[in-house]
Amino acid sequence: MLRIDDKLRPVLDDVVRRNAGEPEFLQAVTEVLESLGRVVAKRPHYLDNALIQRLCEPERQIIFRVPWVDDEGNVQINRGFRVQFNSALGPYKGGIRFHPSVNVGIIKFLGFEQTFKNALTGMPIGGGKGGTDFNPRGRSDGEVMRFCQSFMTELFRHLGEYTDVPAGDIGVGGREIGYMFGQYKRLTNRYEAGVLTGKALFHGGSRARTEATGYGATYFVERMLATRNASFDGKRVSVSGSGNVAIYTMEKVMEFGGIITACSDSNGYIVDEDGIDLDLVKEVKEARRERISEYVRLKGGRSHYVEGGSIWNVPCDVAMPSATQNELTGNDAKTLIKNGVIAVGEGANMPSTPDAVRLFQEAGILFAPGKAANAGGVATSALEMQQNASRDSWSFQQTETRLATIMHDIHDRCAETAEEYGAPSDYVLGANIAGFVRVAEAMDALGVI
Ligand code: GLU
Repeated sequence: MLRIDDKLRPVLDDVVRRNAGEPEFLQAVTEVLESLGRVVAKRPHYLDNALIQRLCEPERQIIFRVPWVDDEGNVQINRGFRVQFNSALGPYKGGIRFHPSVNVGIIKFLGFEQTFKNALTGMPIGGGKGGTDFNPRGRSDGEVMRFCQSFMTELFRHLGEYTDVPAGDIGVGGREIGYMFGQYKRLTNRYEAGVLTGKALFHGGSRARTEATGYGATYFVERMLATRNASFDGKRVSVSGSGNVAIYTMEKVMEFGGIITACSDSNGYIVDEDGIDLDLVKEVKEARRERISEYVRLKGGRSHYVEGGSIWNVPCDVAMPSATQNELTGNDAKTLIKNGVIAVGEGANMPSTPDAVRLFQEAGILFAPGKAANAGGVATSALEMQQNASRDSWSFQQTETRLATIMHDIHDRCAETAEEYGAPSDYVLGANIAGFVRVAEAMDALGVI
């Protein structure tokens, strides 16, 4: 890992001073600023007009009360957030997370990452993120609906197809997007399909959007493996998580001939030496909304469940962390390296700690950072916006082909940028610099705003 360039040190010091108590946000900013030393050495004009300082400060942050009534008739209060980080390249774009851990620092880190990720896609989308500390676990369908309606009752005034376009993230899938779209439509009296992505097909959703993040991460890693004449074929692959990203990562890895041996949820992980039965995972997680331990109860055979502990103790050739931030620590990285991992592809946002990233890179392991590898979800959201704008609906095949091309382009742009800046195969550097340059150019041309 690089150290901060002297010219960027005051920028980081200022960000640290102004955002105390937001470790995830500071982690994300530090990683990007570490990569930018080589850019400002080559192109010092990026230090002008406080451009980098402006890039580290969200354009707008909205925090609001979300009151709702639970099934017992009690009034519950949650906190809602929307961080509109950067709109130099297009309307703010990024998901909404429902998880009890959500706070303003987490939404800021996600919005910051999203800005670079969205720039990397090459599509006309700015960066933003939203969320709430509402915990959907164990809540009835009616409670989730009333929560979504209350959340949108404040958020709607900040959105619009040309202003800010949310989508899903952890805890927010098609059901929640449907409830939020319904409330938006009711409040505005507009059928404005382009205001949210991840919609159902009959509301103007895009085919392949559900699959896109996981499929995209797999396309990215397959192309990265090819740089070393390797592929997923016959490889043992561990995918942490068992939500939307993990499920469709597993599906595409299997299509590429990989063998999924382990996946997880926040309670523990499962190992199946016969290869994970994905239909059963979908049944447990998507249809029944149950814990992953149910898989072992239903499947038996050579599968087993480990409560707690780390999925990264399971030996694998390729690791795809697809659960949440900082889930893969330095110790996990050491174990994976000892067990012979050859590549790591981040399906989640910032799932590897800085220590873990450093260890992978020092060991010469191929490492694909989330802001590049998981960009397929938001890229397909941008395709959904295109379909909404033209009132069109593309086939699955057409959409997936576009997604594959976008992921290959992102891969190649990161690899070429890393090469250009003297760090071949450093996808962290390549992604940070390529994303930064696109946003910086767009900001610069708008003047000081
Ligand atoms: N939440 C996803 C992400 O982290 C998707 C965002 C979107 O489609 O707008 O990129």
